[in-house]
Amino acid sequence: MDDSLRELYQDVILDHSRHPRHFGVLEKATHKAEGYNPLCGDRVTVYLALDEAGKVADIKFQGKGCAISQASASLMTQLLKGRSREDAQALMDGFLHLVKGEDAAALSAEDRESLDVMSGISEFPMRVKCATLAWH
Ligand code: ZN
Repeated sequence: MDDSLRELYQDVILDHSRHPRHFGVLEKATHKAEGYNPLCGDRVTVYLALDEAGKVADIKFQGKGCAISQASASLMTQLLKGRSREDAQALMDGFLHLVKGEDAAALSAEDRESLDVMSGISEFPMRVKCATLAWH
């Protein structure tokens, strides 16, 4: 990855961590999950509202922790809204491969582009748990 791209990606991550998308409590949530990453102290709670068809009708998260954990949660909420359960699972699998530096060919080109900002994490194994917390 060249330096200008790396800087751009850092800017995107900082922007998401400072101005997280879909941040807050989802009152009409049908599912809720809490995660904690003891290595870094990151905390994330994800709220999901699935419709009758099993699609993600709405999604929000709350949390605090390092920029990577919060940016990744924010990015995830942006991407998951409107997806079916299968699509969401496939997206998560692809993301986990991506941040571990493994083959993420299963991701669509569009998802790959959206998630590429996190691909640099694979160079920092200690931070992979920060990036994947919300997704788990
Ligand atoms: Zn962290």
